[in-house]
Amino acid sequence: MTWSFPVGRLFGSELRVHATFLLLLLWIGAEAWLTGGATAAAENVAFILVLFACVVAHEYGHALMARRYGIATPDITLLPIGGLARLERMPERPGQEIAVALAGPAVNVLVWALLVLVLGAGSDVGRLAAIEDPGSDFWGRVAAVNLFLVAFNLVPAFPMDGGRVFRALLALRLGRVRATRIAATAGQVLAFVFGFLGLTGGSPILILIAIFVFVAAQAEASEVALRDVARTVGVRAAMITRFETLPETASLADAAEALIRTTQVEFPVLDGGGRLAGFLTRQALVRALAEGRRTGPIAPAITRNVPVVAITARLDAALEAMHRAAAPAVAVAAPGGRIVGYVTAANVGEFLVVADR
Ligand SMILES: [Zn+2]
Repeated sequence: MTWSFPVGRLFGSELRVHATFLLLLLWIGAEAWLTGGATAAAENVAFILVLFACVVAHEYGHALMARRYGIATPDITLLPIGGLARLERMPERPGQEIAVALAGPAVNVLVWALLVLVLGAGSDVGRLAAIEDPGSDFWGRVAAVNLFLVAFNLVPAFPMDGGRVFRALLALRLGRVRATRIAATAGQVLAFVFGFLGLTGGSPILILIAIFVFVAAQAEASEVALRDVARTVGVRAAMITRFETLPETASLADAAEALIRTTQVEFPVLDGGGRLAGFLTRQALVRALAEGRRTGPIAPAITRNVPVVAITARLDAALEAMHRAAAPAVAVAAPGGRIVGYVTAANVGEFLVVADR
């Protein structure tokens, strides 16, 4: 995710913080400072940090359960409205999906129980109403927030965890694509309710959540539909076959010229033997041009970890390889190793729009 920064690694996942999350901390701190002074500011910022530690624990619940099924989680990103664990893939077996979805809220139940039973924090759910009141019991508020996280995440609508459980249960009878469409529609209806409440109640956070829920539900529905199509076609049907390549020895000026002359926004880069050395993206090219001389080589700007699949591969296998490597494209090779095409997220999107279904 762009605009996010790595802060460390834990259990094999990189923990990232989105820039807007820091903005939220700044906003909360400044507001408390203006109304209650430095102590209130420190306490409110501490509260938000503890709250997000609970969110991180929730996401690790998903990640560690997914790992039991052999699925890695390359990164977990903190956003102002919650966490996002990017699983390498979603388990497609309904039972496994339910276990992964419930592992997150289960962690918050555990945190709540620990706070109430061990630390003796207040267990009064009514404290939720006083969450923004810095005067009340700190750990009692943290306990209440964990209960709120459980309830919010179990709402049976995408992209909440409850939506995944709902989808998995529907998928047992209806098939995955239809089940997802229903759970995603539920998510979008809910987004409208959140949006309405946010607008009438003047709550910017609720409006933000509404937009997030709406977009995420839409994305999940189209991704599942895509995967369903991708399963049945070969990579050959969706790949770009008319393209220009760049030699590894090309200069930035050569690449800039190729960018203008063609409609391509990424170029396969070939080594001396005609094999794939990597890809040069428009983004990397523009950055290199801004930093260096036009006569400089493209080599430092090349993305090297681009996977190569055989022309006989299925499209879903190619997309999974691209996703796992977090690469801008996946190259397609003929039996001799020659690159005969490549697939990007954008051209798969086009393929899906015109696909004969
Ligand atoms: Zn979750």
